[in-house]
Amino acid sequence: MEGRVLKDIYFHCYHDHFLSGVVMHRYNEESQELQSSVIFSSDRPCRCEPANESRPLSAPPSMEEFLFWQRGLHISHRGREHLIVEPETARWVILDDRFFSLFQQAEYPRPLYELLDNPFASTADTRDFITYLLKRNILTRTDWPSLHPPVMPSPLHFPSFFSIHIIESCNFKCSYCYGDAPSSGKKMKMETMLRIIDCIVKDFSRQDITIEFHGGEPMLARNLIEAACVRLREHYSSINGRTCSILVQTNASLINEKDIEFFKKYDISVGVSLDGPEEIHNRNRVYKNGKGTYQDTIRGWKMLREHRINGGILAVVERPEEYIPIAGHILSLGTTGFRLNHMVCQGRGDVDMERVRERGEAFAREFLDLLDYLADYAKSRPGLFMDIWPLNIMLFHLTNDHRPFMCMRSPCGAGSHGLGFAYNGDIYPCEQLVGLDRLKVGNINKCTSLKQMLEQSTVIEQVRSRTTSSIERCSRCPWRNFCGGGCTAEAFAVSGTLFREDVDCSFYERTFENLMWELHRRGDLNRLMGQFGQF
Ligand code: SF4
Ligand code: SF4
Repeated sequence: MEGRVLKDIYFHCYHDHFLSGVVMHRYNEESQELQSSVIFSSDRPCRCEPANESRPLSAPPSMEEFLFWQRGLHISHRGREHLIVEPETARWVILDDRFFSLFQQAEYPRPLYELLDNPFASTADTRDFITYLLKRNILTRTDWPSLHPPVMPSPLHFPSFFSIHIIESCNFKCSYCYGDAPSSGKKMKMETMLRIIDCIVKDFSRQDITIEFHGGEPMLARNLIEAACVRLREHYSSINGRTCSILVQTNASLINEKDIEFFKKYDISVGVSLDGPEEIHNRNRVYKNGKGTYQDTIRGWKMLREHRINGGILAVVERPEEYIPIAGHILSLGTTGFRLNHMVCQGRGDVDMERVRERGEAFAREFLDLLDYLADYAKSRPGLFMDIWPLNIMLFHLTNDHRPFMCMRSPCGAGSHGLGFAYNGDIYPCEQLVGLDRLKVGNINKCTSLKQMLEQSTVIEQVRSRTTSSIERCSRCPWRNFCGGGCTAEAFAVSGTLFREDVDCSFYERTFENLMWELHRRGDLNRLMGQFGQF
């Protein structure tokens, strides 16, 4: 059987016979699912029973079968309720006292008939409950290893998201700019721009792609965007029947009527950087002379809305207590698609690291209030679709065991899902890594095939080797398959190595656990979640 061997297994059956083999995972293109099976290293897996490789994982346990806790469970308690997380497959349950005491009995191998002897529930209910725990991978069987596949990112081998930093300079001087954009800086050459587009289309047009124009402020180099879009739409739009989405990430202050016509003609989405209400936005997003930029940004945003140009808002949240005012303001501007980013610790956003590490707890606390706020908002507007980073992706990871997104997965999508280009044509595995020269992949002007360059790049190999098992703290963490070790770029920018946890680690630790309790506590959240993404 072709497939990827993901782990060797060594275990003992309940008669203590030593067994070994490998768990083989194969990706089924048609169903888009991982399928797993065990290949034993001998013909007969165990002397206790005849060889039976086809026995499905879901086969109900027999009465004599020994069951016990899956390895590495994380257990925490709130009052009379108990959260159990199985980190390897990212499954979790919350049990009341009665069923928790039954679960506790299986800490060490016990035959099913003993577990069914339960004073709290009928045999049928207990049996259902045990089957449920087996399916959730919380309990396991002594003579079978877990066949549940570990959480894995979707196998996308070549990038589909390309972020092109076309200019270094910006007309703003935001205090936390991660690109440290100067007021006058270098701009991409036209030939470099077109070479990037040609290379992307030549190598990657067999899949749907997104091209993002970034800066500095990209509208200061609108001639480059125009040339690239004309090339994309007029020459390449229908190659292989795939779609190419185009996005401009801008502060919106320079947008004029001509730009709007251009965005419409070339079907361009526009993301606007806006930090919520005027007093919050103007604290950091200022001109070189210190004057606030809110009025100019909002003018641009309104123009885009009036003309129905697609796009959302990107806000940087500097203070945890400002989540709700920022989200509320953005919702009042008529959009339910926005990102709430924590300040990035790169460029001018480089602040006291201890303070940054500690802020995670406060962000996690306030995030719960934000969840309440958004759930109430959604409740009174049935059918509304809300796409809010990072809430959507976190809820998705709590309720699904595949990881189709670029971030919060292990390894992250840097180099395999995304790619970033600097103004001079330097290539990086992700837009967040642009400018971090130790992780430069190459330069577009010296490259004949982007695909080949990526395949041969040792930088890409290094970045892809950053998995949660290669990071000491993450390898032991119960949230490792929910957060994926956080952002590679953030970890590298702060610690100088790929193999450290994200600086926002404590935010992830607290928030994933809090969200589990919230999903359990709020009966309406499951229903409302439909409004928070594709569940
Ligand atoms: S970054 Fe933190 S929360 Fe995420 S896996 Fe690593 S240790 Fe766990
Ligand atoms: S480096 Fe960070 S932003 Fe880039 S794909 Fe990885 S996690 Fe996402």
